[in-house]
Amino acid sequence: MRVLIVEDDPLLGAGLRTGLGQDGFAADWLTSAEAALHALRLEHFDLLVLDLGLPGRDGLSLLRELRQAGSTLPVLILTARDAVAEKVAGLNAGADDYLVKPCDLDELSARLRALARRAWGRPAPLCRAGDLALDATARVVTLGGKPLALSPREYDLLEILIAHPDRVVLRTHLEASTQGWQGEVESNSLEVHIHHLRRKLGKKRVLTVRGFGYQLVSEPAS
Ligand code: CA
Repeated sequence: MRVLIVEDDPLLGAGLRTGLGQDGFAADWLTSAEAALHALRLEHFDLLVLDLGLPGRDGLSLLRELRQAGSTLPVLILTARDAVAEKVAGLNAGADDYLVKPCDLDELSARLRALARRAWGRPAPLCRAGDLALDATARVVTLGGKPLALSPREYDLLEILIAHPDRVVLRTHLEASTQGWQGEVESNSLEVHIHHLRRKLGKKRVLTVRGFGYQLVSEPAS
């Protein structure tokens, strides 16, 4: 899942990027609302973590512009302690959730995953496609009831595919969601990870839809 962090405090911003990165997110970090709007126009993100107090344009103004433009991107705002008015203004401007700074990384991570699941129309942490199951809380995947060992990247890809079972997920979506600016740059890396995933799940489970992307099959033909 690709998350954009907008935070002007260098220690906090770098810490969030590193922490969320270690937690399996493709995390990118910017320090101003202007730069964030530019990036959001050009690239796909699954989630936005937004500090409200930014130099120049503030976070609230960025959020209003996004929502006015019709964006449904899940947004979690970071607010100062005891700033009730800030939280209310943020939620009224279209934020989906908030956390008070300094925030606990595990809580941030869990809230972001919950927001993404809801945006995908899959609010329950357990996703199933036939005998394949993914538990997003424990980050555990089972096939026919048996646990499956996946690399972090394979897990990230499966998390997106299983949220859209039997539907084609565009390769640009998969690439953007699993690869931030700091990530790998090889153009064939998606194919390599899909290849590994297919070896573990069975050949007929993940179909290539040429020119478009990939499809996870709930009930593969035997
Ligand atoms: Ca700030």
